[in-house]
Amino acid sequence: MISLEQAREKVLDRAKPLAPEEVELLFSWRRVLAADIYAGHNVPPVDNSAMDGYAVRSVDLKDAGPDTPVRLKVVGEVAAGSAYTAVLGAGEAVSIMTGSPIPKGADAIVPVEYTNQAENRVSLYLRPHPGDHIRQAGEDLKQGNLILQKGQTIAAAQLGILASLGISRVKVVKRPRIAILATGSELQALGASAQENHIYNSNSYTLTAQALDAGGEPLNLGIAADDIAELEQILAKTQDCQILITSGGVSMGKYDLMQEVLKGLGMELVFWKVAIKPGKPILFGRWDEKLVFGLPGNPVASMVTFEEFIRPTIYKMLGKKQILPDYIEAISTEDIKKKLGRKHLLRVSLTLKEGRFYATTTGQQGSGMLSSMSGADGLMIIPEDSAGINAGEKVTVQLLNKSVVGTR
Ligand code: AMP
Ligand code: MG
Repeated sequence: MISLEQAREKVLDRAKPLAPEEVELLFSWRRVLAADIYAGHNVPPVDNSAMDGYAVRSVDLKDAGPDTPVRLKVVGEVAAGSAYTAVLGAGEAVSIMTGSPIPKGADAIVPVEYTNQAENRVSLYLRPHPGDHIRQAGEDLKQGNLILQKGQTIAAAQLGILASLGISRVKVVKRPRIAILATGSELQALGASAQENHIYNSNSYTLTAQALDAGGEPLNLGIAADDIAELEQILAKTQDCQILITSGGVSMGKYDLMQEVLKGLGMELVFWKVAIKPGKPILFGRWDEKLVFGLPGNPVASMVTFEEFIRPTIYKMLGKKQILPDYIEAISTEDIKKKLGRKHLLRVSLTLKEGRFYATTTGQQGSGMLSSMSGADGLMIIPEDSAGINAGEKVTVQLLNKSVVGTR
């Protein structure tokens, strides 16, 4: 059986970057930039005041102090959105509001708290240094500089940066369309009352949310019974998808039909079975240009194999810089025994004590126990050749996204 790493490499080798498209700024949120962004102008565009106060020539105030105010003539006022167009002369001050352009000739702002105005005279009780409370043009974003890079994901901060550069349309990478099909004759759609010997389909929901979170465009194909004709008919609807995910029907049972059906439709099998727990019976192949993931039906196995194989695939298609998950070192709080041969991925919560992370399993670890995913912070990884670990031993933990496991 191949390892997680070998299998992931085979998958990623076959994932190709997608083309760009242009979208309105707000629709670029959580999308990946398809081109570098350079600043077309300075932000802020001109030198401006960081305080409400008075724009002054610092030389005029070299004798000013708490007990020795200097009086200047107030020759104007600039509110945000306007400007003082004359040059500030000796002995003059301009009343100025935060964000307003610095008048020519002025080289410092004295905050209003250190002043006292009567009529058109102001007493200033502070000796400013040149540049005090002045924001320089371009101090945030400098004209011509590389500001955001291709491959970066646009979050709220990047939306703000793009907006402040006046960019209303953004080139982002197209999202992969991801068909999702739950298979199993025991599955029942939500909405009807539960039939005897049936269970509700939960994988379509977890996988759809994971696909969205990773940056894909899910297409939910619903449920198919363990029936060759029905599976073939539904799978024919996946023509314009880049990724096809099925859940269930990939093990050794009499009604595990996915491999046979997919091969019959023309899928080239790349691998079946990976030395991991949960998720061992996963199959992966290529069907024309589509990447096909046959995930095991157990709800935890399908979620975990999505995170191990499909999220990195989507990230690669989107051209993201970091494709693989983040890992941290932690200390296990428990003894854990395991059989040799497979890599175990245990759902754990993490606590930080004195600068170290401690990992504790979230309860029963059966691959059908979705409750173990809820509130987990990560997956504790115990290697293939390990027979287990003792409490106090160092372990590696793969971090899971909060949007997948929720917050505690
Ligand atoms: P399978 O991989 O088809 O052998 O299914 C393994 C286990 O997962 C069985 O107990 C199934 O009932 C369960 N299962 C399969 N598909 C789903 C699904 N979509 N939602 C919830 N449980 C499922
Ligand atoms: Mg089944």
